Amino acid sequence: MQTNPLLEATIRVLDRLVAFDTTSHLSNLTCIEYIEYYLQSLGVPATRIYNNDNTKASLVATIGPRKAGGVVLSGHTDVVPVKGQPWSTDPFALSPNADGSKLHGRGTCDMKGFIACVLAMVPYMKMKAQAPFHLAFSYDEEVGCLAAPAIADFLGQQTWKPSLVVIGEPTEMQVIDAHKSCYSFNTVINGLEGHSSKPHLGVNAVMIAADMIHMLNLMATEFRQPAKSNSRFDPPYTSIHVGKIQGGTARNIIPNQCEFVWEIRGLPGQDIDTIIKRVEARSEELLHHMRQIAPNASIKTTQLTYVPGLRPDVEGAHHSCVMHSANKNTASAVSFATEAGFFQNQGFTTLVCGPGNIEQAHKANEYVTREQLALCLQFIERLVTTYK
Ligand SMILES: [Zn+2]
Repeated sequence: MQTNPLLEATIRVLDRLVAFDTTSHLSNLTCIEYIEYYLQSLGVPATRIYNNDNTKASLVATIGPRKAGGVVLSGHTDVVPVKGQPWSTDPFALSPNADGSKLHGRGTCDMKGFIACVLAMVPYMKMKAQAPFHLAFSYDEEVGCLAAPAIADFLGQQTWKPSLVVIGEPTEMQVIDAHKSCYSFNTVINGLEGHSSKPHLGVNAVMIAADMIHMLNLMATEFRQPAKSNSRFDPPYTSIHVGKIQGGTARNIIPNQCEFVWEIRGLPGQDIDTIIKRVEARSEELLHHMRQIAPNASIKTTQLTYVPGLRPDVEGAHHSCVMHSANKNTASAVSFATEAGFFQNQGFTTLVCGPGNIEQAHKANEYVTREQLALCLQFIERLVTTYK
């Protein structure tokens, strides 16, 4: 195997990053501390942006002078849980396969591999960059992109506001310039308990939930019909999905509570408000009937998360520089959501490009290949030398 000192440095950093269990429900501070210390040793100061209870932080650092028009390389430090997954190695220890071509470990693909590449390239950025390079590492991406809005706000308000943001989510180093939005909701139905032999005296929360889910299903079918065959999205339509439902206690008891969690993944430009209004209108209708039997009955839908979509913007400043650096002629679209939309909404040209395949993310034995990391290093190198 050829030795590539930069790649070896990247793997050493990745080894450290993987060892921090940064599953979203845990603090990421020890990982942030390590990155801070690493940057400090290279003379790069960094700023923490804390969450409300100071248990997690994002990190923003600048290489070069703080002047307007720079690049942001962005990634999330949190990872999805390993619980219940059949890992054959320790998920929090970087484990190469027999020939060393694949590096296994939680977060290797999604997306500590990218962060490791970025960190390994810092000395090169210090030497060669002609514009400021900013690093932005977030937390809680996997549970609804909770930290990205504050980072995007912070960067957007600076006198040294950057121009371009590259999010290194696993795209196999394809450039992604469009993705769907993702809205998630929790609907809780409170009815009235009773003996199942007298259904007319109770309000069956499970059956009310079934009515609402049926309605969501009909809307999902509606969006599927006029799907454009030339769309770059797979699937080429806005999708609606119910992922979890819970309710009832026994066969012969009218259930008084039921709740379900659902989502909408919208094509860029999809009018989400109209979908929500239709759900609300159906809730009102159902509630009217429920309250004739149970005055305290309720249906409450709460929005859990919102991740904006990424709109294609080929005219965006530096779009061509990213394409050139990634050695690509065309940009693609994906159906999974990223933090990109938050940055785009602050006026940054925003693209997604990073090592690893999304197919390997979130699974047991997650891995990134050495080849993908090497391609990412090349991409950053070209971006550093060509971005002005
Ligand atoms: Zn990710």
